[in-house]
Amino acid sequence: MASPEVSKLESIYADVLRRNPGEDEFHQAVREVFDSIVPVVARRPEFVEACVVTRVCEPERQIIFRVPWADDRGRVHINRGFRVEFNSALGPFKGGLRFHPSVYLGTIKFLGFEQIFKNALTGMPIGGGKGGSDFDPKGRSDAEVMRFCQSFMTELYRHIGEYTDVPAGDIGVGGREIGYLFGQYKRITNRYESGVLTGKGLTWGGSQVRPEATGYGATFFAQRMLQTRGDSLEGKRVVVSGSGNVATYAVEKVHQLGGTVVACSDSAGYVVDEAGIDLELLKQIKQVQRGRMSEYADKRGRARFVAGGSVWDVPCDVAMPSATQNELHAHDAATLIGNGCLAVVEGANMPTTPEATKAFLESGVLFAPGKAANAGGVATSALEMQQNASRDSWTFEHTEQRLAEIMNAIHDRCAETAEEYGAPGNYVVGANIAGFVKVADAMLA
Ligand code: GLU
Repeated sequence: MASPEVSKLESIYADVLRRNPGEDEFHQAVREVFDSIVPVVARRPEFVEACVVTRVCEPERQIIFRVPWADDRGRVHINRGFRVEFNSALGPFKGGLRFHPSVYLGTIKFLGFEQIFKNALTGMPIGGGKGGSDFDPKGRSDAEVMRFCQSFMTELYRHIGEYTDVPAGDIGVGGREIGYLFGQYKRITNRYESGVLTGKGLTWGGSQVRPEATGYGATFFAQRMLQTRGDSLEGKRVVVSGSGNVATYAVEKVHQLGGTVVACSDSAGYVVDEAGIDLELLKQIKQVQRGRMSEYADKRGRARFVAGGSVWDVPCDVAMPSATQNELHAHDAATLIGNGCLAVVEGANMPTTPEATKAFLESGVLFAPGKAANAGGVATSALEMQQNASRDSWTFEHTEQRLAEIMNAIHDRCAETAEEYGAPGNYVVGANIAGFVKVADAMLA
């Protein structure tokens, strides 16, 4: 017999399914939070009675727009742009933009929903939002990407602002795109409004450590989590999936802390380099040439590239899924557990499927959910906003120190909350409850 709290949450969940048909990733993200907050709803019935749970699942505003742009041959293309302004209880909507051909409204809603609780966990005054487009930047010239970004901003500008909604990067959106977007915003509005976007270049309002922040932050989280078991990253074999911004700087920080990242990947396959991924080569291929991981093995004789397959087949002590959603499945979890993996730290958003997450939790593997472990990126965005508001810029050392403190605080808040609600060591429950209660209290107030 289900408890009254479970029945209430089930009926709200049924409503979410009915009102958002076909948005599987969004359903998955809501389901996970609902599964965690049963004991909260039991203690705080007002969260259901005042419809806070229902409200938090409904974005405050959803913007969908047409993005026309011309390629280098003069052909016109039409893409779809999105900005989901999910929740502003704690501050202006905040969250990245994703440019990827798989993007549809459900992607942006799942990411925006996750962002609400992630941003709450940072302790910074930022609400949750997300945006993006089904535009595929792969193979496009700089000029094409620029025209796309300018067209995207020609609609988006009217919806954003430093006190309203502050986008940043995500998959397919990095420093180059933020530059094109900021330039167009400045031109249309005739305002040098630094705080309207984060992830800006260092010479025009960006923050030190912002490019590194998500990967560094996830690694700080891994270190803190291992320390709860009297362990550390020193001497550990680490596998990181992906080879983008998050993965690259996770590799850098793991190496600085004495671990060795032996594999990373892209959508075509994975590279194994037993001596440790060569960071300079990785940056050269991915950041300078915008190339593929297969080139890594070509350039570094002792590494091997495995086309297709799963990077999780490579035995490791610590796994850091840092590519994209639902990339680590139940069979991968079984392989990792079988190989003696100690900890899984999500650098990406929702990279582990619910079945795989369950397997890790049941087998006692330390498991850090993305909304806690990858919050360093958005937290450093909030530090960038802080610097912009005070017309200041901090040193690398100071900013990294702030990031480390924030990550440790997030870790401890999740651990303490899990303990308080009778699920010691369960960071999924800890992150969901701590994030939810903070937002729900603000919404009630
Ligand atoms: N896209 C990142 C995330 O998933 C960063 C968002 C931001 O800096 O606003 O949290």
